[in-house]
Amino acid sequence: MAARIIDGQALAKSMQAGFAARVAELRKGGTEPGLAAILVGDDPASAVYVGRKMKACAAVGIRSFAERLPSTISNTELLGRIVELNSDPHTHGILVQLPLPPHIDMARVLKTISAEKDVDGFHLYNVGGLVTGSTVFSPCTPYGVVKLLEHENIPIEGQNVVVVGASNIVGKPMGLMLMARDATVSICHAKTRDLAQYTILADILVVAAGVPNLIVSQMVKSGAVVIDVGINRLPDGRIIGDVDFEGVRTKASAITPVPGGVGPMTVAMLLENTIKSAERKLALRI
Ligand code: NAP
Repeated sequence: MAARIIDGQALAKSMQAGFAARVAELRKGGTEPGLAAILVGDDPASAVYVGRKMKACAAVGIRSFAERLPSTISNTELLGRIVELNSDPHTHGILVQLPLPPHIDMARVLKTISAEKDVDGFHLYNVGGLVTGSTVFSPCTPYGVVKLLEHENIPIEGQNVVVVGASNIVGKPMGLMLMARDATVSICHAKTRDLAQYTILADILVVAAGVPNLIVSQMVKSGAVVIDVGINRLPDGRIIGDVDFEGVRTKASAITPVPGGVGPMTVAMLLENTIKSAERKLALRI
């Protein structure tokens, strides 16, 4: 049996009209949602990601602007710019594209972005909120995965979920968000002994390790739902995920492709969070 392909590109596109309608409503009330994207240095992949995010903003009427800062910028200068944006009434969302140059204190940068404008969901307040269920903004990639599962009517409650990858921006929040929906969650990482012993139990397997072909069909339970978050660029320029797509699709019941699965949903959730931030500001008059 070949798995159903979960089309994140199509779902993200279908959400555009709803986003555009919310933006139009905000504009009618005198608010133009604005997103500031800070890009430090000239990493080509980061520039591509920021470009995509800005294009997606433009498509639904969000005003976005990229702040391109040199890789030599000091911590103090970068933090100063974030503080300015925190108090700019026209900026509803601030994102700092990761990774940052090694001399930059990433934790401090993420903590400095106002939790009210933290549309990437990386601020300590928003991360802590995932534990207690009171977060303002959920991190975009795991949020996009949850939206995909919901859209595909894939039950989460009571399911065995295995998340491969335990980073602060994908794996850990993914686990917390699925726990909040009453899944039984295992989180694996590079030091997990015998990874297959966990993955084979998964009703839903989410893979975010950044290792091409880490997951092969023998590691997947028959009928499992497989969500591939990984993005790996091969020497020949092709982009692939962490899952051996061709092998696993014969075993799984549903699977996300790379590209065209989780990636477009990450961008869609950034739009959702930016619009939500502007709506909150209007409702709370903050
Ligand atoms: P990361 O910070 O490098 O974290 C990778 C995680 O995977 C770590 O927890 C690491 O374990 C674990 N890991 C590495 N090798 C492993 C192995 N052989 N077996 C089991 N676990 C292993 O990466 P990230 O930022 O979370 O991103 C993960 C992947 O998702 C990357 O390919 C990235 O490009 C992609 N990504 C995609 C999107 C999207 O929108 N589709 C968004 C963000 C990231 P340790 O903790 O033990 O080191």
